[in-house]
Amino acid sequence: MKRPIVHKFGGTSVRDAERLRLVVANIAQSRREYANPTVIITSAAAGVTDQLVGLRPDTWLETTRLLRSRHLQIANELGLSEKWKADYAAHFDRLLGECPVGLENYDPATLASIHGCGERLMAPLLAEALVQAGFQAEYIDSAPLIRTDNHYLSAAVDLATSKTQIAAALNSILSDRIPVLAGFIGSNAEGHTTLLGRNGSDYSASIFGAGTDAFEVWIWTDVDGIYTADPRHHQHSKLLREISFRESAEAAYFGAKVVHPYTMWPLLESDTNLRIKNTMSPEKPGTLICHEPQDRGPDLITTAIKGVAIVTVGGYGLIGVPGVASRVFGVISSSGTNVLMISQSSSEHNISFAIRGEDLAITLQALNHQLQDWMEREHRIDRIKVVENAAILTVVGENMRGRVGVAGTIFSALGEAGINVIAIAQGSSEYSISIVVDEAQVFRATDAILEKAGSK
Ligand code: ADP
Ligand code: ASP
Ligand code: MG
Repeated sequence: MKRPIVHKFGGTSVRDAERLRLVVANIAQSRREYANPTVIITSAAAGVTDQLVGLRPDTWLETTRLLRSRHLQIANELGLSEKWKADYAAHFDRLLGECPVGLENYDPATLASIHGCGERLMAPLLAEALVQAGFQAEYIDSAPLIRTDNHYLSAAVDLATSKTQIAAALNSILSDRIPVLAGFIGSNAEGHTTLLGRNGSDYSASIFGAGTDAFEVWIWTDVDGIYTADPRHHQHSKLLREISFRESAEAAYFGAKVVHPYTMWPLLESDTNLRIKNTMSPEKPGTLICHEPQDRGPDLITTAIKGVAIVTVGGYGLIGVPGVASRVFGVISSSGTNVLMISQSSSEHNISFAIRGEDLAITLQALNHQLQDWMEREHRIDRIKVVENAAILTVVGENMRGRVGVAGTIFSALGEAGINVIAIAQGSSEYSISIVVDEAQVFRATDAILEKAGSK
């Protein structure tokens, strides 16, 4: 048997009956072109997860009524049978019929099982749309196949166990059926539903790709592929034909929403490639994400994370003291904050790091409290400075490595555009350089870099 192609459809690709018909047509076309078995992973319809995340006991009735009618209307417009719709309505009611006890105190296990309902509502609809078009498609619950830990809303995946479970469940049916599965969800050892984190359906797709030893994983979305900058904001950005796994992981981590940052990880040890394709323009080749791109070209990719705060801990008393960085970062990690970027000047009397704006208060509290000895008694630290409303602008490029002049291009572009650089960090990987700028200047900074680098 040939190796399967895993197709993942994002929220806008399944947002209504019209898009679902396109999805079915795209699957039909890819099966005409490739004789490989097919696995399908779907997101929730656009906006549904946000609605589920916003559910509270007092909005339950109204929101679930809207969700029920939206999904049943899709079934109607697809012309699905009365019997199927009755079963589907019962499926809906089993998932969201009653406001669960626990929602009012934000119990993570309860929240995870509710937030994951959008995918569990879409997967059977898509499976039935395929059946109606003459395919042997079957909805299969994905939660028991992806094993995670107990961090309900953003759980860590046990890849080895998941791969074994996926292979056991899917390999025997792939020769004559198309399994259709919900993205975003998994389950812990007790069998309770967990989530892979927001935007996690891409990650699900590559876990299924690894579990079925897929030939390729196709991420279907609403743009033609990966561009040199977010095409929604930078209309002149260039589409890239091929990029490496490393680059796409780096770009995703630093804010390119087009794929979830973990998507590449399950496939790192395999020869399974990823492809980004546009559901509305299936004839276009999209972007191939592979280990050794043959057609990469010199273009740089720029990404941005907004809403960042830069915290600088400084003082002459830090010079030459061993373990300064480890103590400071130990304090930050104890507060549960994720450090996005670090920059230390060579003189060692300053350590700057970037965190999300929403983590600022708790981080400062932890620093002030736990570094009190260095601040008040020993006076090693004489200042903690904060810059808010900043953005991390990251420039990613495989071809940056060993190429002199890339940093020069970036900084002269920023200088000519009159943009003030607050901090700089070069990734140890040498595939990226991150620059902190004022959030209000990100757009202009991106544009200036793309222009100067010829990547527009
Ligand atoms: P889906 O719902 O299909 O998962 P997402 O909205 O999560 O889609 O991701 C697709 C979006 O990613 C695009 O609409 C685009 O605005 C955004 N994006 C950000 N950076 C890039 C980039 N460099 N190339 C392409 N798209 C990007
Ligand atoms: N529906 C989930 C979300 O909105 C997962 C996904 O779409 O990838 O985060
Ligand atoms: Mg997405």
